[in-house]
Amino acid sequence: MLLMVLVTSLSSWGFLVHRTVNQLAIYGLPKKMQPFFYTNIDSLVFNAPRPDQRRNVDPAEGNKHFLDGEYYGEHAFDSIPRSWDAAVAKYSEDTLKKYGTLPYVIGETQKKLTEAFKKRDGDSIIFYATDLGHYIGDAHVPLHTSLNYDGQLTGQRGMHDLWETSVPEAELTAFNIRSRHKAKYLGSVETAIWDILKHTHALLPAMFAAEKEVSKSFPDTSRKYRWEFRWGKNRRFYSKEFAIAFNKVLKGSINDQLIRSSNALADFWYTAWVDAGKPDLNGLLHKPYQRHSFRKERKAYRKDQLIKKGWLISNNFRTRD
Ligand SMILES: [Zn+2]
Repeated sequence: MLLMVLVTSLSSWGFLVHRTVNQLAIYGLPKKMQPFFYTNIDSLVFNAPRPDQRRNVDPAEGNKHFLDGEYYGEHAFDSIPRSWDAAVAKYSEDTLKKYGTLPYVIGETQKKLTEAFKKRDGDSIIFYATDLGHYIGDAHVPLHTSLNYDGQLTGQRGMHDLWETSVPEAELTAFNIRSRHKAKYLGSVETAIWDILKHTHALLPAMFAAEKEVSKSFPDTSRKYRWEFRWGKNRRFYSKEFAIAFNKVLKGSINDQLIRSSNALADFWYTAWVDAGKPDLNGLLHKPYQRHSFRKERKAYRKDQLIKKGWLISNNFRTRD
């Protein structure tokens, strides 16, 4: 029971962001992929948090969401073998699992998605595309790449929820939800994964420093923190006021990571489809494709108007873990 609570309390980007990432990625897809993905938008969006929910029932799921970079030394993201077998030979499977398998899980999910495209199995395509979006989202969260995953090693406990849940929940409507990204083919999926992790990990120092800086303006802990009954007990979280101040000091970095997540996801989906031989997906539609709606939404996304128009699904149906 205790384990379950611990595992659940360290989730990833909250429901809100995971869902947002999956929706936005659809707008970056090429013409031939748009109808199938857009007619499945609800499933792609609502099931985005599913891998986190799976942790509650599958003990093997937990370590798939992170990689504790520091364990492997200063240049972890350049020195860890990119193939699972080579990594096991170097570090042992137990060690890899203990410090997180996220990059390998992304690679494995990408392969399953490619297979599903090859078989033209609509349900499997949506299943793996959804899960892939979750893991790629996690790879953009700095605290998913660190031993200090909750700020617990530096007296900053609660950073996890602050960065990935409290800030987006307080600030999403002020975020710049805009991109003109067009999915591009990834010559090497492995390189793309490790580049993402390396960039994400590099954001950590600025993030811990920002918490210290903002804390100076919150000498009164009753303003700095809030208490909330979650997962069966009263827990301490950073206050909304603190989250807003923290986001300001970080400038656009949380917002950036959200957009980077969805841009990358579009690339991974597209690459899987190309690697599968660009199968025709239009025969898999279970309902008519609303091309006009898709185009209106994509246009709104390019102008940061999805929220204003009421078309950001996650924002219309806010729920929490
Ligand atoms: Zn996760």
